[in-house]
Amino acid sequence: MLTIKRVATLVSFNQELEQATGCGRDCLGSCCMPGAKLPLYTFRRQQIANGKNNAYSNGDSHKAANGDTALHNYELHELSQGFVENSEAANGFLDSLLLAQWEDRMERGLFRYDVTACETMVLPGEHGFIAQLNEGRHSKKRPTEFRVDQVLQPYDGKKFNFTKVGQEEVLFCFEESEDGTNQYYEKAPVSESPNVIAINVSPIEYGHVLLVPRVLNCTPQRIDPDTFLLALHMAAEADNPYFRLGYNSLGAFATINHLHFQAYYLTAPFPVERAPTTPICHHCKKGGIKILELGNFPVQGLVFEIGDNLEDLANAVANACIYLQNANIPFNVLIADRGGRVFIFPQCFGEKQARGEVDQEILDTQVNPAVWEISGHIVLKRRCDYDTATEESAWRLLAEVSLTQERFNEVKKHCLTAVFEGPNKAMSMSTIASNLHPMEMNAAVLNGQAEHCLLLQA
Ligand SMILES: [Zn+2]
Repeated sequence: MLTIKRVATLVSFNQELEQATGCGRDCLGSCCMPGAKLPLYTFRRQQIANGKNNAYSNGDSHKAANGDTALHNYELHELSQGFVENSEAANGFLDSLLLAQWEDRMERGLFRYDVTACETMVLPGEHGFIAQLNEGRHSKKRPTEFRVDQVLQPYDGKKFNFTKVGQEEVLFCFEESEDGTNQYYEKAPVSESPNVIAINVSPIEYGHVLLVPRVLNCTPQRIDPDTFLLALHMAAEADNPYFRLGYNSLGAFATINHLHFQAYYLTAPFPVERAPTTPICHHCKKGGIKILELGNFPVQGLVFEIGDNLEDLANAVANACIYLQNANIPFNVLIADRGGRVFIFPQCFGEKQARGEVDQEILDTQVNPAVWEISGHIVLKRRCDYDTATEESAWRLLAEVSLTQERFNEVKKHCLTAVFEGPNKAMSMSTIASNLHPMEMNAAVLNGQAEHCLLLQA
């Protein structure tokens, strides 16, 4: 078995406690949830018409986070009014609610450290990488053996998962409304398996939260169209260009195998949001979405831009992710532009690390290149790395994450097949195209027979 020792990051206080039988901790498990009352935010399914579509897809939307924000915020609000019914009621409400609740938890001392005291700087240079010194994020816990060679692994209720989180860490539940209105209830009976938004007790920025879809379904970490749509809805509801959601697959620095997204506010553009893109698919049949690839960026990635609606975008992205999962290719996802733009980064850092191919200097920093780092917000754990950080050092780290051009081209082709013809078609093409191991490995994993796994071919 391929394993790497990693320093675990705590995302919840209950992660540190041994779980007793019988609970009494007001947790999110089936022991404490039936009959519980939690705050509830209900959202309307977004009816995005052509006008809203243009606001996202005319190529200007990503400039909203590009510096002259006041102007672009104003323009986007102007455009969205009249296209989204009741948008006045919804605009920014989730945003202010989330931050008010988050600050309340900070006042209650529920975080492990004060993230607002962490030093941050924009590294000089053309890309604007952002470095943060976060010495508090290290866990004193014994490093856990973490399996890095399987993107899909079965859920294991014995390991830490979000049903063990305390209810005080929940900001609110997040559900689609039944009557088409946005509402907030301070105390509402919880549904059978709610979507919860909880604090991350080891935040890396202001407002750092976790979205855990259907917490009691105990779904392992994997993308499907419904939960991806939920994440897009959360981004659209927050309606703030500085609020992004991120996803890490297993093997790409997810540390908990229980379906979750992360989200936080960063009041600066992520370098990846400013990177140039080249269209690779002009006439998309599915809802007018655009698919592009990143250029002049250390990590190869695909960019999906919204067309007619969030559903088509969610389906397209999810199909590409399902292909990556089935092909056992670790990946990270960034949701930006109020849910209108999604970046997918297939990555191979863990594989290279396991093979001893990553530069020791980079390993010594103990930086985990997950979605935020890849997007250009680099959380450093040691003072010496922070003091000597440069654009070149950030680029060197991220370059280790990226697939080679040749492998990326192959993966890109299969992702497009997955988007337009389904993930199964992409899988069958990929075995014809090459004799890669992932297919065999994945079949073994699905059959629950995988005792030993092969490495991905580079
Ligand atoms: Zn409990």
